Amino acid sequence: MSSPLPETTRVQPGRIRIIKDGSNPARKEGPVVYWMFRDQRVKDNWALIHAVDQANKMNVPVAVAFNLFDRFKGARARQLGFMLRGLKQLQSALQISLQIPFFLIQASAFLESSVSVFPNVQGEPVQTIPKFLQECEASLLVTDFTPLREIQKCKEEVCKRTSDLLSIHEVDAHNVVPVWEASSKLEYSAKTLRGKINKLLATYLIEFPTLQPPSIRWKSSPPPIDWEKLIEENVKKGNEVPEIGWCEPGESAAIEVLKGTKDGFLTKRLKAYGTERNNPLKPRSLSGLSPYLHFGQVSAQRCAFEARIVRTVCPQSVDAFLEELIVRRELADNFCYYQPHYDSLMGAWEWARKTLMDHASDKREHLYTREQLEKAQTADPLWNASQLEMVYYGKMHGFMRMYWAKKILEWTNGPEEALEIAIYLNDKYEIDGRDPNGYVGCMWSICGVHDQGWKERPIFGKIRYMNYDGCKRKFNVDGYISYVKKLVSEVKKRKADAALCSTEKKLCA
Ligand SMILES: Cc1cc2nc3c(=O)[nH]c(=O)nc-3n(C[C@H](O)[C@H](O)[C@H](O)COP(=O)(O)OP(=O)(O)OC[C@H]3O[C@@H](n4cnc5c(N)ncnc54)[C@H](O)[C@@H]3O)c2cc1C
Repeated sequence: MSSPLPETTRVQPGRIRIIKDGSNPARKEGPVVYWMFRDQRVKDNWALIHAVDQANKMNVPVAVAFNLFDRFKGARARQLGFMLRGLKQLQSALQISLQIPFFLIQASAFLESSVSVFPNVQGEPVQTIPKFLQECEASLLVTDFTPLREIQKCKEEVCKRTSDLLSIHEVDAHNVVPVWEASSKLEYSAKTLRGKINKLLATYLIEFPTLQPPSIRWKSSPPPIDWEKLIEENVKKGNEVPEIGWCEPGESAAIEVLKGTKDGFLTKRLKAYGTERNNPLKPRSLSGLSPYLHFGQVSAQRCAFEARIVRTVCPQSVDAFLEELIVRRELADNFCYYQPHYDSLMGAWEWARKTLMDHASDKREHLYTREQLEKAQTADPLWNASQLEMVYYGKMHGFMRMYWAKKILEWTNGPEEALEIAIYLNDKYEIDGRDPNGYVGCMWSICGVHDQGWKERPIFGKIRYMNYDGCKRKFNVDGYISYVKKLVSEVKKRKADAALCSTEKKLCA
């Protein structure tokens, strides 16, 4: 981890960690492979820039490999469809603008599908990535960074299973300030991280260099990918949570949402962010960027860079946006990176664990099962509306997410069960779920992570409390309930129309 970094790179050294050093004089210089996971984009991607720079320096070709997991963290049609449609565009952009080949490696569960990389290279990444590297005789593997334990463990295993002549570089292409540079420890709150991040913005919040096609071409073409078949198979398998229609996947769509001329956040909707972002009836006052940020289809650094350019227009909105986009988002990565129990009660601070356990067996007015919650069958119409917004629309308003998770604590058998149910539902239905922000959002709401202690009360103990009357004072609760009702009936109608259309097509065929 401590080896010196290669000299020729346009990426700030602090962004790169050498997790395996194969700088052996006997090393034959083979190609560079970028194993893409979290940062699924061509533009503004430090990991891709580093991979290309290193390939050019060694005069070797470079390729991108992507290993499809078997429904990573329970991904369903909603998340898989969005990701695969984005990857389809990415493959063509890589090929057309940079002539970099894209190898899609299938998870073993999809072996029947038509895609294969090299014969015998299929399955889970702990097996496939080492095999792929061996087959193409790579000398450098570049990976992007995620703090999630499954991938961190997988990388450790890949390090063990690959030749000692291979180097592996991990590049934090997701955070504006690389997680390990922002802080070397678990931070207590936004207050303790904010100053550290702000000090480093001059170094890290910069424009990206232009990426040119690599100087040496990859010899063979990757096998063709039958995207339509792949998407259809995956969407069919996970169809209990269907795709959403309102959010177009891909890098171009992400930039349109950020700063497009039609309905871009920075160009058309910025002003409302400062005043209306906590009003669930005004979802358009939020950026709507979380699906793109989650799948890495847009870089947070690009969003922050562009927002700073227009700061004079709306300083209040831009400052609030940057606080969420940089400080809060990167605080979530800090938590998941340094706290191994990031998704369980064990990860809560001592005071919070104690107060929650002191009140774990307090009498609850209502107790609901996971199934009742999932079906929005509670006595609280506001909570039911937020649950339905998530199930049908795929993105619950940010303000409602707090209320939603806190109520789960109030209505279940203690904090452990509440956390498990909240994470399960969040990961299953949110288009931006299965993300450090989600684990930390649930931990904040239920376990007081990054928050302070409040006046002690039943069930919640000293954890911050939210209730229906508080919401009523803040926004038009009945208006939100009607808004969600309308949203749900529109989605149901679209679904019924689509089903009818497909039956008609089958009958005509
Ligand atoms: C219980 C709970 C669950 C959550 N689950 C998720 C999740 O699964 N995925 C997810 O991305 N966010 C999650 N959040 C955080 C936040 O609610 C969403 O990021 C936000 O609503 C996304 O909408 P937006 O991009 O339009 O928001 P904007 O307000 O426009 O924010 C821009 C970006 O800033 C970041 N951000 C905003 N709020 C937060 C926050 N509180 N913590 C960390 N980063 C933030 C996100 O990356 C977001 O896309 C959760 C919050 C709670 C309380």
